Amino acid sequence: MDIIVCVKQVPDTNEVKIDPKKGTLIRDGIPSIINPEDKNALEAALRLKEAYQGKVTVLSMGPPQAEVALKEALAMGADEAILLSDRAFAGSDTLATSYTLARAIEKIGKYDLIFCGRQAIDGDTAQVGPELAEHLNIPQITYVRDIKVNGSTIIVQKALEDGYAVVKSPLPVLLTVIGELNEPRYPSAKGIVDAFRKHEITFWTAADLNVDKARLGLDGSPTQVVKTFTPTNDRSAEILHGDLDQVVGTLVGKLKAKNLV
Ligand SMILES: Cc1cc2nc3c(=O)[nH]c(=O)nc-3n(C[C@H](O)[C@H](O)[C@H](O)COP(=O)(O)OP(=O)(O)OC[C@H]3O[C@@H](n4cnc5c(N)ncnc54)[C@H](O)[C@@H]3O)c2cc1C
Repeated sequence: MDIIVCVKQVPDTNEVKIDPKKGTLIRDGIPSIINPEDKNALEAALRLKEAYQGKVTVLSMGPPQAEVALKEALAMGADEAILLSDRAFAGSDTLATSYTLARAIEKIGKYDLIFCGRQAIDGDTAQVGPELAEHLNIPQITYVRDIKVNGSTIIVQKALEDGYAVVKSPLPVLLTVIGELNEPRYPSAKGIVDAFRKHEITFWTAADLNVDKARLGLDGSPTQVVKTFTPTNDRSAEILHGDLDQVVGTLVGKLKAKNLV
C-alpha cells in the first residue's frame, strides 16, 4: 500500500503571540512542531504499512526549516520525505497550498491513500485536505477516527457532533484524521540516527512541478487577510458584599437601571 502523508510544520501555538502593531505572528524564538493531527495521520499510515507492506511518503510545503519536521517524520518511520520550498510558494492561501501539494502528488505518481490532519493549529481552516482531494479528483472522507482496510476498499468511522458514521470508499481516497484516531509513536533512537545519517530529504521547487505559475503563492491566492488581532477583554466584574437581602436589593436596582429586568 503506497501512502502519502501531508505534514505541516507549525509554531507551537501555546507560545505564539501577535505583534499588536504589525498584526503578524511573532515567530522569533518560537519552537516549531509537526502539526499534532498530522502526527496522527502519520501514525495511521505507519500502522497500515506495517499491516499491508508498502511505502509511506511525507510531503510538506514550507520554508527550508520545515526540513526538521520531515526529519522527525522519517525518525518515526516514514520511508521518504519531500519538501516543496520556493519563494514562489510564499503567501499561499489554502487554495494555492492545496494546488501546489496536488501537483507534487501527481509527480509522485502512485498512491492508494493520502492522509492529512483535519486542521492545522495555526491556519486553522481545515480546508487543505478537502481542496486537495478536489484537485486530484479522488473521494475524500473527513474527521476520520477509525480505519479498516478490506482489499481495495476502506471502511472508516467519520466523527459527527453526536456520534459517528461508517463510510466505505474505494481506493485511492483522501482521509483527514482527528486526534482520537490513535496515539502517535515516539521516534526510536535508531530511527533518529537513521533519519539524520541515512535518509536524504528531496527538495522540489516550482520548476520541478508541472504548475501554472499564476496559481502559486500570493498571486494564486484569492483570500486576503485584512487584519489580524488579539481580542481584548474589556469586560469588568463588580462583586457585591454585605447582608444577603441588601445585596439582592442592590443587584435588582442595578439590573433595573440597565433595563435588564
Ligand atoms: C492571503 C493569505 C496569505 C497567507 N500567507 C501566508 C504566509 O505568507 N505564510 C504562512 O505561513 N501562511 C500564510 N497563510 C496561511 C496559509 O494559507 C495556510 O497556513 C495554509 O494555506 C494552510 O492552511 P491551514 O493552515 O488552515 O491548514 P488546514 O487546512 O487547517 O490543514 C489541514 C491539513 O492539510 C495539510 N496541510 C496544510 N498545509 C500544509 C502544508 N503547507 N504542507 C503540507 N500539508 C499541509 C496538513 O495535513 C494539515 O493538517 C496565508 C493565508 C492567506 C489567506
